[in-house]
Amino acid sequence: MDNCIFCRIASGKVQSLKVYENEKTLAFMDIAKDVDGHILVIPKKHCKNILDCDSETLSAVMQTVKAVSNHLTEHCGYDGVNLLNASDESAGQSVSHFHIHIIPRKNDDGIDAWPRFEGAKEDIQTVFEKVKM
Ligand code: 5GP
Ligand code: ZN
Repeated sequence: MDNCIFCRIASGKVQSLKVYENEKTLAFMDIAKDVDGHILVIPKKHCKNILDCDSETLSAVMQTVKAVSNHLTEHCGYDGVNLLNASDESAGQSVSHFHIHIIPRKNDDGIDAWPRFEGAKEDIQTVFEKVKM
């Protein structure tokens, strides 16, 4: 997809700082400069998000997420990671090509990577009846 920035990064038409690459996936530095070590993992094949991603592609992405996360904690001085994903504009997705954010964490780094929710509006039992599968 020529108009997709992450497809253009995956094909090398747009430059990126590549952390890791294999046949199906790419991990590269996010340009946000919001937190040290912010990395994105994408499939090379275009899908929008987890809702339309086929299971083989999803599996490849998650294997790369794990490989990069293990590398960060075993060789780069980090203790843990936050994994973030927005699937759909309603969830805050701004780039329409599936990606998992990896935020490397250190003990006592002071980063607050967990959203501050405003409190549930519906009764838990009511929501449970709606969402149970
Ligand atoms: P989203 O809001 O969709 O979850 O995250 C999109 C992310 O892509 C943002 O963190 C943003 O900084 C990053 N991003 C957008 N355009 C580019 C780009 O051209 N290069 C890189 N490396 N990251 C990008
Ligand atoms: Zn794409």
